[in-house]
Amino acid sequence: MTKYVYSFTEGNRDMKDLLGGKGANLAEMTTLGLPVPPGFTITTEACRAYLAAGEAPETLDVEVTAHLREVEQAMGRRLGDPSDPLLVSVRSGAKFSMPGMMETVLNIGLNDESVEGLAAQSGNDRFAWDSYRRLIQMFGKTVQDIDGDRFADILHKLQADKGYKGDLDMTTADLKHLVEEFKKVVEEETGEAFPQDPRRQMDLAIEAVFRSWNTERARLYRRRERIPNDLGTAVNVCTMVFGNMGETSGTGVCFTRDPSTGHSGVYGDYLVNAQGEDVVAGIRNTLSLADLERLDKKSYDELRSIMVKLETHYRDLCDIEFTIQQGKLWMLQTRVGKRTAAAAFRVATQLVDERLITTDEAVTRVTGDQLTALLFPQFDKAAEKTVVTKGMPASPGAAVGEIVLDNDQAASRVAAGASVILVRRETNPDDLAGMMAASGVLTARGGKTSHAAVVARGMGRCCVVGAEDLVVDEAAGTIHVRSEDLVLKAGDVIAIDGTTGEVFKGDVPVVDSPVMTYISKGLEAALDASPDADTQDLVRSVDRILTRADRRRCLEVRANADNPEDAERARSFGAQGIGLCRTEHMFLGDRRKLIEAVILAETAEERQEAFDALMPLQKSDFIGIFTAMDGLPVTVRLIDPPLHEFLPDLTELSVRLALKAERGEEVTDHERLLLEAVKANHEQNPMLGLRGVRLGLKIKGLFALQIRAIAEAAVECRKRGLDPRPEIMVPLIGSDRELQIVRDEALAIIADVSRESGMELDLPIGNMIELPRAAIRAEQIAEESDFFSFGTNDLTQTAWGFSRDDVEVSFFNEYFTYGIFGISPFETLDIQGVGELVATGVRRGRRGNPNLHCGICGEHGGDPASIHFFDGIGLDYVSCSPFRVPVARLEAGRAAIADRAEATA
Ligand code: ADP
Ligand code: MG
Ligand code: MG
Repeated sequence: MTKYVYSFTEGNRDMKDLLGGKGANLAEMTTLGLPVPPGFTITTEACRAYLAAGEAPETLDVEVTAHLREVEQAMGRRLGDPSDPLLVSVRSGAKFSMPGMMETVLNIGLNDESVEGLAAQSGNDRFAWDSYRRLIQMFGKTVQDIDGDRFADILHKLQADKGYKGDLDMTTADLKHLVEEFKKVVEEETGEAFPQDPRRQMDLAIEAVFRSWNTERARLYRRRERIPNDLGTAVNVCTMVFGNMGETSGTGVCFTRDPSTGHSGVYGDYLVNAQGEDVVAGIRNTLSLADLERLDKKSYDELRSIMVKLETHYRDLCDIEFTIQQGKLWMLQTRVGKRTAAAAFRVATQLVDERLITTDEAVTRVTGDQLTALLFPQFDKAAEKTVVTKGMPASPGAAVGEIVLDNDQAASRVAAGASVILVRRETNPDDLAGMMAASGVLTARGGKTSHAAVVARGMGRCCVVGAEDLVVDEAAGTIHVRSEDLVLKAGDVIAIDGTTGEVFKGDVPVVDSPVMTYISKGLEAALDASPDADTQDLVRSVDRILTRADRRRCLEVRANADNPEDAERARSFGAQGIGLCRTEHMFLGDRRKLIEAVILAETAEERQEAFDALMPLQKSDFIGIFTAMDGLPVTVRLIDPPLHEFLPDLTELSVRLALKAERGEEVTDHERLLLEAVKANHEQNPMLGLRGVRLGLKIKGLFALQIRAIAEAAVECRKRGLDPRPEIMVPLIGSDRELQIVRDEALAIIADVSRESGMELDLPIGNMIELPRAAIRAEQIAEESDFFSFGTNDLTQTAWGFSRDDVEVSFFNEYFTYGIFGISPFETLDIQGVGELVATGVRRGRRGNPNLHCGICGEHGGDPASIHFFDGIGLDYVSCSPFRVPVARLEAGRAAIADRAEATA
């Protein structure tokens, strides 16, 4: 027979799956000998059975009776006994905390008779009737689904009529009156009198908690927090203790350290003569723990010693709910407390200093996301600001700039040295250029998974979405702020806060965060820049944890960077090389004409001429990057994108030439040739067309040019006394033969350059794995290759058959709704599918070449969950955007420590 009920004396903190977090920790505290009111926990399994069958299993009833008897015996009272009633609370508690989502009912067991008994036993009429009115109010709202305002309105009206300042002014007669009124509401709403049978009250409350698992808001919350829908909640039945028994009673919450700053030293709120829910509801101003010390030194001292005990036991910051009943302290809840990013780092190192945890454990107590939060620029706290509206914070940071409403404007203003905020009704893939140019992105529509939000987060660009108060008129170049009736124009300066969603008018000064100063300039510089002790303490904590993570990690961290500035930044953030240096931008801008000439060339001579013009430009690009990364590897990817990206748009060009012809203007030979070339190179699906290695094989001399430029740049750097370490990477390989052809050509060129310069060059030649076929044929490909770099963006596209720019806007939202994805496979690696391809590629590749060096480039290289996977399958490095480098360092350290812990466990 399944056991559905556990006494608080039977469970422990490791049983969260079955007992929920609250139940598991109540049991843990009971076992520790702390003063927890007796009670029992109904398992999540019972909840699942109830939700599946629509009714509680019969054996549950029987088990509840047995456990209730036990509690009654321990307390020497019976539930709802008319002369001296035992009262209980019925409390929800799932495996993961879902604050405010599910319900609790206090004071179960009171009815028209037992309220008199409670009054007589306690000698306190007011307390008894206060408890009864609370029961009817909470029971009506939670169990009977009556609109809570019906009760609250009556209560507020009574207080207003009598001129009371708050709940403490109410007399026993007032409370009796409220009980009568509340009972009438229940009868009106349900057609039945308020249930008087104590056990029935309890059973109905238990079922209501079960059902609360499936309320709309609970489902929504779980989706957002990625909590599975099928866990169910446990139910805790707990003997009532009373904080509302007069001046020597009260209720409070406390933390063993400050969860917002991480200050050591206790922190909490206390409310005299009140019951649990009053603290959160904010009905009166609370007192501090220091006040409690003055009011009731004995209880305070006991609480402090329990806090120390809990922190030592859990070895972490705990949060606690407690109640004092006439000078006697009771513990009602504890858990490892949530905290801000800054507090997470500070608390972790404090615990190391107090010898409660090891430094390795401290590394596991913080996350890459928390580190990210500390790296974003901040608005100067001291500055004055005017908020004009608020949207949804989609990607953190602080950005200031001129309003621009389209991409061309964004590009031209940025080229002129301005900083801009791209404001759009909503963004689409065509806005990528504008988003890249802008310091921040603001949209009037869309949610946290909208195109703008997803792309901005990927780029680390500050972004606020769904500011519905804004009417964006792109044609007129204006933004109307409806609530303020304010019109802003393109060129006006605004500021957006991606952490709060606030939009400000005018300039707000932005400063580097202290942790960013530490990451880019080192500890001394950061300490010099922020003299206040708290900030210094934070910076030191980050330094200690990151230093340890660096020492422990097995993965190297490289960055994706295409130019010397990004390379330098990446290096200052701790990158150990460039894992992906794209070369396509080296053919854009002014140089587009040259590549156009390559494509239009009718003879080998014409083509060679164009190559000759490109050569010195390419070479100097590479010299710049190799110089910035002196002594570290730079993986240069040969040209990758479809050809048409270097040619004008087909429709645009056709229309332009047609108009010209119609107006009788002359269409030049060049234009005619260009149109032909554009037509000839037009592809239905360029992503799967002539690109990557295919381009290199089709256009003779293109790869050769790049390879020679790399080799000659290396020679030049060596002449300057530097230590360049280029690696040549061939994109979009699907077969070993493709790579073999390019490799042979490359080796010949490198040998040439070596001969010409008299310098021995030994450049690794490897390839990207971004096609499923490449992962499958990895063994054969590796025989031709020195290294693999998994391009997980393209590999995700080719494995799923997705074109990212199309699918993200067209149907990803539906896929989230259906739960086909919990998270976009472009954000966190799809471990079961794409991950399997990567793992296969590594395994087979190393069979073909035991010295094969393996890494990944692609946004997943900076994503915590993906990094843990890459560590697990034995990659040598991850490569991510420069901004993500610190996060990758930390997460790689966490992954290594967690793996070792698993191995020894
Ligand atoms: P939540 O999960 O929302 O915190 P709880 O189950 O902890 O809900 O209960 C809500 C409030 O009621 C808390 O302040 C809690 O301390 C208080 N409470 C719960 N059970 C009891 C009890 N047996 N005696 C006194 N107060 C209680
Ligand atoms: Mg609670
Ligand atoms: Mg690719």
